[in-house]
Amino acid sequence: MAKKKQFKAESKRLLDLMINSIYTHKEIFLRELVSNASDAIDKYYYESQGHADASQFEIRIEPNKEARTLTISDTGIGMSKEELEENLGTIAKSGSLAFKEEMKKKEENNNEDVDIIGQFGVGFYSAFMVAKDVRVVTKKAGSDEAYEWVSAGEDGYEITPCTKETNGTTIVLTLKEDTDEENYSKYLETYELKELIKKYSDYIRYPIKMNVETQ
Ligand code: ADP
Ligand code: MG
Repeated sequence: MAKKKQFKAESKRLLDLMINSIYTHKEIFLRELVSNASDAIDKYYYESQGHADASQFEIRIEPNKEARTLTISDTGIGMSKEELEENLGTIAKSGSLAFKEEMKKKEENNNEDVDIIGQFGVGFYSAFMVAKDVRVVTKKAGSDEAYEWVSAGEDGYEITPCTKETNGTTIVLTLKEDTDEENYSKYLETYELKELIKKYSDYIRYPIKMNVETQ
């Protein structure tokens, strides 16, 4: 059995904010995950010093209505076990810290009408604004080992070995249940996803592909 680990204190606070976010622009989680996927392909490209097969570079978005999952995968550099631990268990980066500062100010001033989250790169944890659990399957380029990171947010995360054919990262979000206020199911609609990609990820220079559901 893998041991369940707790997030570092800073990360935990940010995570709580994300999980309990009443923010109206939750949709920016997709921008964050796609931009991470793009960064990962950039890194792979640079580290391979041009030897990587660029025809394989792509980002995939796959909604699955039955399973209520949205999967974002890339053919980028991937993460080792240590990197998974370091990158997804700890939050220490400028965007998120700045975000936290602003949230604090907002609480103090009771100033409701600023688009805080939209101004920052809030990163990976923004997935928890729409997902009740997140699974990350990743294989570092050049390594034989693949790992799975799973978390339902509040109660920490687990990392276990798994299998994955190719290098890169696959992120599976299980979307929260819809409420009267919030429609999470829309993130399973091809049309909605296309709109979001157009709106936020137009500048991404790798192909973003989507499986069209046939019915
Ligand atoms: P940032 O992108 O600003 O560094 P994030 O919270 O978005 O912060 O991501 C944290 C870190 O997790 C990244 O810096 C990267 O090292 C790692 N990471 C996230 N997504 C991926 C991915 N798809 N492939 C490889 N590494 C990733
Ligand atoms: Mg990021």
